[in-house]
Amino acid sequence: MSVLIFIDQAEGHVKKASLEALSYGAKVAEQLGTTAEGVVLGTVTEDLAALGKYGVKKIHHVSNDTLNHFDAQVFTAVIAQAVTAANATVVIFSNNVDGKAIAPRLAARLKAGLVSGAVALPDTSNGFVVKKNVFSGKAFANIALSSPIKIISLNANSYKIVAGEGTAEVAPLNATVEASRVKVTAVNKVTGEVPLSEAEIVVSGGRGLKGPENWGMIEELAHLLGAATACSRPVADVHWRPHHEHVGQTGLAIAPNLYIAIGISGAIQHLAGVNRSKVIVVINKDPEAPFFKAADYGIVGDAFEVVPKIIEAVKKV
Ligand code: FAD
Repeated sequence: MSVLIFIDQAEGHVKKASLEALSYGAKVAEQLGTTAEGVVLGTVTEDLAALGKYGVKKIHHVSNDTLNHFDAQVFTAVIAQAVTAANATVVIFSNNVDGKAIAPRLAARLKAGLVSGAVALPDTSNGFVVKKNVFSGKAFANIALSSPIKIISLNANSYKIVAGEGTAEVAPLNATVEASRVKVTAVNKVTGEVPLSEAEIVVSGGRGLKGPENWGMIEELAHLLGAATACSRPVADVHWRPHHEHVGQTGLAIAPNLYIAIGISGAIQHLAGVNRSKVIVVINKDPEAPFFKAADYGIVGDAFEVVPKIIEAVKKV
């Protein structure tokens, strides 16, 4: 019996979200009196054994290089084999794009109960109960899983990365890798200094910025803060910004330490994707803008006056 954590990697590097999942999985294993193991697919350039410092004892590595391109069906089949190899009764994913695609497929395949978007450790005092956000972050649900295999996908920034001592045993897993039915014809890399889903700070703009030509100050502020840029949905819909920057109910759900919303009204559908941010700063010229109700700090003012002043202040720090 073990807790198995899917270690998500991109171009050979383990994603930050997976370090959270590893730390979380190690704690779940401790709660259950068992060990944490990891599974990673494809070519990895990082030292996998070093991931032992996050509490994982063994890492199953399927190094087949056809797994360097993500394919949810193929990955699901391989991870199912890792579940058997690890004799896992709990499987943990990050609730990111890959995790969202694999976890439900794996749950169906293994007839396992699934809680997607967990925000806390399971309560194992009486069964196995997992807490998650519901109704766009307006409420919590505690869901009891009773299936022999339980699957959890963990929301980003819901569990602190805990690094200690130790190395993991790296065990090559000779899994059957079925042929992909997807043909990758081109890869368009997202340029940007910090990937939005992993950013600690996000500077986000809305329709209040009037047009794409005004995003220079958003990018400059983001650059100075080491932040990622994001936007509201209408901004992406009219192609002022690319769609991968759109956050909200129908876009990416993020939980950075600091979210700076500039010229965004704060509609409920937008808040659904950002209300787990640790600190929210709102800049809006309308004092009645709904976003101020969700803000930790608010500046009522014209973005075209306020943001350049913030940029100058940050430059002086
Ligand atoms: P607006 O509502 O037009 O607000 C612009 C804001 O900028 C205003 O508050 C205004 O006071 C302020 N402003 C104007 N000029 C300035 C200035 N010079 N300086 C400072 N402030 C200024 N939206 C999302 O963002 N994400 C989603 O995932 C999403 N999903 C949706 C799903 C559904 C089913 C539906 C129906 C809607 C969804 N929406 C989503 C749209 C959402 O309801 C809002 O329409 C949208 O978030 C508004 O975007 P906005 O705040 O940029 O624009």
